[in-house]
Amino acid sequence: MSKVIFLTGDHRSADSTDGLAAGAPHGPGEPLLDARRRPLHDLRISVTDRCNFRCTYCMPREVFDADYTFMPHSALLSFEEITRVAGVAVQMGVRKLRLTGGEPLLRKNIEVLIGMLAALRTPDGKPVDITLTTNGTLLEKKAAALKQAGLARVTVSLDALDEHKFERMSDSRVSVETVLRGIDEAARVGLAPVKVNMVVRKDLNDDQILPMARHFRGSGHILRFIEFMDVGDSNGWNLSEVLTGAEILQRIAAEFPLEPAQAAYRGEVAARWRYADGAGEIGLITSVSQPFCGDCTRARLSPEGKLFLCLFASQGHDLRSLLRGGAGDEEIAARIAAIWSGRGDHYSELRGRETAQRKKIEMSYIGG
Ligand code: SAM
Ligand code: SF4
Ligand code: SF4
Repeated sequence: MSKVIFLTGDHRSADSTDGLAAGAPHGPGEPLLDARRRPLHDLRISVTDRCNFRCTYCMPREVFDADYTFMPHSALLSFEEITRVAGVAVQMGVRKLRLTGGEPLLRKNIEVLIGMLAALRTPDGKPVDITLTTNGTLLEKKAAALKQAGLARVTVSLDALDEHKFERMSDSRVSVETVLRGIDEAARVGLAPVKVNMVVRKDLNDDQILPMARHFRGSGHILRFIEFMDVGDSNGWNLSEVLTGAEILQRIAAEFPLEPAQAAYRGEVAARWRYADGAGEIGLITSVSQPFCGDCTRARLSPEGKLFLCLFASQGHDLRSLLRGGAGDEEIAARIAAIWSGRGDHYSELRGRETAQRKKIEMSYIGG
């Protein structure tokens, strides 16, 4: 793969773990570090492998068709089981929880789970940050209940403003208007700032970059452009379809001058840029052209309770058998610590021939 040059230096946050030992047993109050000295800070929880969209880059209909077997409900972690894992993780240093899927708003009574997670406290008595990523179809209806349950913010995926393009990307009959109404309602009830994720596929929806930028400038919402990634084994990914963050930035900057903004925290996946005229900011998620594995502090819990250490992993580590086998919290914590301290994943830095043959989990199963 050819090396892609980014427009400026990396302005994500600097490594803040200098001087800490990797993979070492951690005592109370010490961060749990993996083999590359990255702390466990975020837990992404996929609550379902089902979705009402068939985005071509995530769940192509040829694969996820009427014969596709999704997980039975009995296989999914219950809300109590999810909360238990999250609670243990919070005691171990996790400060951010993100619900995802599949489409997380399809999971019945998701606001009950959010309420349970919102009741968790860190060892020094603070609540954790709870967010959710959604395709927005059910958001208008559910935003108020989600907010009331304790959700802090939402990220909404939207790949085009043009109805025809949107239909082609999402392979659904849902209108752009429905998603826009969901975004507005989320902001209205205080799930803000709303982040809007746009996956860019060259020659498919890259003509939507500027209309999307124009639409969301000055709205208070943060538009983030995501490079098309080689997640899973079914989306037919090809490097030639990736429009790099640098190219996206150039297109926007030609119409609206931009300046770099500092990362808000270590491990923030999006490089932030703000409009020079004060009309807000955008983000670029450049997993392909400019990987950010060095700052990756995220673990992922699958719907049936496997802990994954990387979006591009082939295998997860089963926690459900511990949960259902009567293990105590200390045993679960010890298992998570053992798994995390052995973590060396940095797929995006290796992407290329070395990783081409690897079998990977699907994005719709583990979430973004
Ligand atoms: N269904 C929800 C949604 O679409 O927001 C949550 C799950 S979805 C898997 C999470 C995020 O992953 C979405 O923003 C989606 O656009 C992104 N995503 C899925 N497949 C991708 C791919 N191949 N490359 C880049 N981003 C992808
Ligand atoms: Fe569904 Fe989200 Fe995947 Fe699209 S990206 S198919 S909305 S899980
Ligand atoms: Fe994290 Fe894996 Fe993505 Fe690297 S490739 S940033 S380790 S999820």
